[in-house]
Amino acid sequence: MSIKFNSVLENIKSYEAGKPIELVVREFGIAPERVVKLASNENPIGTSPAVAQTIRDSATKAHLYPDDSFFQLKEALAKKFEVESNNIIIGAGSDQVLEFISRAVLDENSSVLMSAVTFAMYEIYAKQMGATILRTPSYQHKVDEFISEYQKYKPKIIYLCTPNNPTGDGMRRDDVFKIIEAVGSDTLIVVDGAYMEYAKAKDIEYSLEPKDIMNYPNVIYLGTFSKAYGLGGMRVGYGIANPALIEQLYKMRPPFNISSLSLASAIVACGDDEFVAESIALHTEQIKRYEEFATSQGFEYIDSYTNFITYIFDDSMDSSYISDELLKRGVIIRNLASYGMNAIRITVGTPKQNDIFFDNFLLV
Ligand code: PMP
Repeated sequence: MSIKFNSVLENIKSYEAGKPIELVVREFGIAPERVVKLASNENPIGTSPAVAQTIRDSATKAHLYPDDSFFQLKEALAKKFEVESNNIIIGAGSDQVLEFISRAVLDENSSVLMSAVTFAMYEIYAKQMGATILRTPSYQHKVDEFISEYQKYKPKIIYLCTPNNPTGDGMRRDDVFKIIEAVGSDTLIVVDGAYMEYAKAKDIEYSLEPKDIMNYPNVIYLGTFSKAYGLGGMRVGYGIANPALIEQLYKMRPPFNISSLSLASAIVACGDDEFVAESIALHTEQIKRYEEFATSQGFEYIDSYTNFITYIFDDSMDSSYISDELLKRGVIIRNLASYGMNAIRITVGTPKQNDIFFDNFLLV
């Protein structure tokens, strides 16, 4: 006899996270200081000194559960985004908020709509609920494609990942509103702004504020501390929507769903605008090098509104071969072959990390 697992699992491939530095050290015997990880869209300059100090200071309180109301963090976010605390739900990463949404809304009779190539967890969480996955033909979020698929299938959730992971392109804010206006209020629209800070810095027309969309009863905005705020390891994200929607999502939340250290660090990070500005300034300068490198090598890149860039290859180059060869040299990037693209995604790093990427790429 063996355990009979829920049949929905048959259809699910586990999420493939960026390879950790430890794995490259173990498998290829490369010294940890020589490994460069540009695979998970983390903040290359690290964690802000103020946050690191807070984590140290909070260590003596690790025996206590955190304040389960997350009062201070919600107040800080409410102030930042000019919303109220009851518009906010906190998750262990925005990933967990995606999970709450899926569990609150979907069942085996539902479908969800997303772009052809987008953040993998939308599909995984929806499949866990037995829902059907619909995708637009293009990886870009094209308004007409979303509206026509919506009209045909009336999905229960539409995911707008803007800017989009793993391609890096963004939606114009007007286009987001065109989709919101075309969709009935019984379909939930998730605007995933994990990389919104980068889009906002590049072109305001490609950015959205949660308060702009929150008054629609069927729209939720998701944000994270994992990218521009440099707290990927702390696992803190948030959802912002009207209070009635937030109240329903709360029913899915386990108690104390982020740790005391995560809570303390996110509160400080929320006020550390200087660190975010410094991160974005470095990124803006460094991503140009990636654009120039692609042009000089004769391949295409997708204009990026995020902290990473996607290189697209023609048939003369193979993204799997390139990724494997880079890995053997201690450079971890993301191969997009599993997304059906002959492409790689590289998180823009520090100047030194980027030098190492370019040097090794030329050796492959
Ligand atoms: N949405 C998108 C588009 C992402 O790329 C990610 C992380 N890779 C997330 C959500 C989840 O981020 P986190 O759980 O770290 O907040």
